[in-house]
Amino acid sequence: MVKKAGHIAVAGAGVIGLCVALAAARAGHRVTIYDPGGFPALGSASAIAGGMLAPFAEADHMPAPWVAAGLRSIELWQELEAFCGTDFGLRRAGSLLVAHGADAHILARFQTYLRAHGDFLWLRAPEIAEHAPMLGAGFDAGLYLPQEAHLNPAAALTALVDALRDQNVMLVEQAVEPATLADDYAAVIDCRGMDAARDEPELRGVKGEVAMIRNPDFTLDLPVRVMHPRYSLYVVPQPEHVFIIGATQIESEADTHVSLRSALELLSALSSLHPSFLNAQIIALRAGIRPTYPDNLPRITHKGKVIACNGAFRHGWLLAPVMAECVVAHLAGAAHKYISLFWRNHDHDHHQRPQQNLSCRA
Ligand SMILES: Cc1cc2nc3c(=O)[nH]c(=O)nc-3n(C[C@H](O)[C@H](O)[C@H](O)COP(=O)(O)OP(=O)(O)OC[C@H]3O[C@@H](n4cnc5c(N)ncnc54)[C@H](O)[C@@H]3O)c2cc1C
Repeated sequence: MVKKAGHIAVAGAGVIGLCVALAAARAGHRVTIYDPGGFPALGSASAIAGGMLAPFAEADHMPAPWVAAGLRSIELWQELEAFCGTDFGLRRAGSLLVAHGADAHILARFQTYLRAHGDFLWLRAPEIAEHAPMLGAGFDAGLYLPQEAHLNPAAALTALVDALRDQNVMLVEQAVEPATLADDYAAVIDCRGMDAARDEPELRGVKGEVAMIRNPDFTLDLPVRVMHPRYSLYVVPQPEHVFIIGATQIESEADTHVSLRSALELLSALSSLHPSFLNAQIIALRAGIRPTYPDNLPRITHKGKVIACNGAFRHGWLLAPVMAECVVAHLAGAAHKYISLFWRNHDHDHHQRPQQNLSCRA
């Protein structure tokens, strides 16, 4: 292959690869993106996700410093939707956490966390009804998180791919090995998700299952999570009365089928939310594997010319734009407020950003 000076390769077109490719192209880089799953890659974990952008509601899974990075990402999604010129269902309507009377202590624990880090309102039944009038009775307590958002993952993936085409990014439907591309590109960004596990022994898969349900008799404007000691069910509204119901969290990467047990759990919990769900249409039951490191936090790892962005676990949609912003800042040799959260450096000491400037305007 001919050496392409100033040319960036991205391996993987999940949400992270697409955001990195678009941010790099917008920064002036020449970009080629590879994915054997096509554009959009409908078999990726990204295509199966719920589409919640929920830094506060994910407090159980993410330490406090990441919340600010998540909020930055939501701003970036707003900017990206405007840039793409396509409505991909991004709504910053907040989200609602509710619990039945006996489970109110779970909300009380969340409230303690939010007092330190967030913007929230404690709700009683009448206020819950104001935010979600059709939610079944029996939710005595709730938390409203006004800064959270959600989007439609399928529409957003398509919009990002269209934007890459508009930016003259080359889309190549092919599997690649990032290390073998390094001689031919100024930098290679490895966004292969779980497929990178054979090169990254620390990466593991955490299975997640969701149901897509159409219920014309139910309306909801914002995501709702039902907090329960055994599970936490969420319902994310999508256009045309479609709802994404999720998600299981199973320490397994063995398969991507939805088990009968998981389907029963998700659907029975859903039917208790509102009686109209008993007559709703099941559009799809889907499973995906979340790429995850031992600390459940995403990493940007630098090794030679290869920069790997991986381990987004439950937060790939939430954090992809800010991870992309960090990568592009690094390529330009610039600082970024959140880079130290993500950064791992195999070439130098842990967490230390290398000084070289990979800036490569074609
Ligand atoms: C059920 C479920 C619900 C979720 N809900 C949410 C949510 O509401 N909010 C949120 O923020 N996150 C959510 N997540 C997490 C989120 O989906 C993941 O963190 C995210 O998709 C990871 O993105 P990625 O781009 O790293 O990987 P992926 O989406 O898996 O993309 C990797 C891509 O790399 C490609 N690839 C593989 N090998 C190669 C190769 N050799 N060469 C080139 N390309 C290759 C694959 O084909 C794939 O398209 C959810 C996940 C699941 C499973």
